[in-house]
Amino acid sequence: MTPLLAFPRPARAESPPAASLHGTERILLSPPHLTGGELAALGATLDSGWVAPAGPVPEAFAEAIGTVTGFPFVAPLASGTAALHLGYRVLGLERGEEVWTASLTYIATIAPAVQMGATPRFLDVTPGSWTLDPDLLERELARAARRRALPRAVVPVDLFGQSCELDTITALCDRWGVPVLCDSAESLGAVQHGKHAGRGARLAAFSFNGNKIVTAGGGGALASEDKALIDAARHLAAQAKEPAPHYQHATTGFSYGLSSILAAVGLAQLAALPARVAARRAIFERYQAGLAGLPGLGFMPEPGWGRSTRWLTAITLDPKSGAPGREAARRALAAAGIEARPVWKPLHRQPVFRGAPRVGGAVAARLFATGLCLPSGSGLTPAQQHRVIGVLRGLWRG
Ligand SMILES: *Cc1c(COP(=O)(O)O)cnc(C)c1O
Repeated sequence: MTPLLAFPRPARAESPPAASLHGTERILLSPPHLTGGELAALGATLDSGWVAPAGPVPEAFAEAIGTVTGFPFVAPLASGTAALHLGYRVLGLERGEEVWTASLTYIATIAPAVQMGATPRFLDVTPGSWTLDPDLLERELARAARRRALPRAVVPVDLFGQSCELDTITALCDRWGVPVLCDSAESLGAVQHGKHAGRGARLAAFSFNGNKIVTAGGGGALASEDKALIDAARHLAAQAKEPAPHYQHATTGFSYGLSSILAAVGLAQLAALPARVAARRAIFERYQAGLAGLPGLGFMPEPGWGRSTRWLTAITLDPKSGAPGREAARRALAAAGIEARPVWKPLHRQPVFRGAPRVGGAVAARLFATGLCLPSGSGLTPAQQHRVIGVLRGLWRG
């Protein structure tokens, strides 16, 4: 039988090094890492006839996410961004209201709120965690309360596999009755204060995009301990259909359900999460050992309240202490066929948010200037990692 479609195979993390003109293969930042179980799960799903974004497969995926995270209520969704969007909707965000988030994050954290007409306020992160600074938050909440201008939501971010100081943040927000929507898209499998990332927030958003620690080939989830919020999100995700034999709508919704086909892939991947966390942490430790003693080189710290998945290993390079510049390092790696990326450019420095209110931002700006994310895929081999370390060490010999 001829295949209907034939695609070149992408660089697969677990496949043996492919020979190329230069005898080296490209090393990617965080490529998908398949388990081998995906095909069986897909086959079973197709055989069952359940392929739509509804039915038992997305439900089984939501239940598995609940088991992993400890959240009792989970909506399976088309993306992490969709989860954040629905989070803002079920919190009742309205045009003109403020949403507060950390400066150092991906634009998807705040984009849906801005598209809904909200005003973002960007708060700096701490040097010890790279996540939202609770002291700044405390001060700003008190100020906003005096102005009677509290935000509709505070959205802390779990960065690169590491949880924010969520217990402290939720306690501060509870004082003023401000709900917390935790962007845990990068931190499935992470632990904070003895709980899974996002636990304790009113809502938490997760992502199963191709670059995340496990993937559904695209997907997301919104989770809560409040059933009413997740019921409302599920209603909106399926075009807000009211119970009636005809199509009846009291509000407009979205087509944000997760396809059964993707949910099947996600289910196979979720089973491998503990192994993926262990692999990413081992990669971090090999970088730490291999790059030890280089002047001006540091690593993203892991604060005492949590256990990071080390989804991405992030280093800092301080030229004033004898390190090469971040861009010099990135370019040297790129020339050797190795993908590395600067730490997120702070949102307060993005042209689209010029003039948006912000609180501090110097820490995030410094991390952007000095921070570099290294290849961290769970299928990265020791030999590949040796190549990355060799290129970096070479910059000090220089
Ligand atoms: C990946 C990511 C998202 C969005 O998830 P998608 O599934 O790609 O929509 C949101 N926030 C952060 C911090 C992310 O890294």
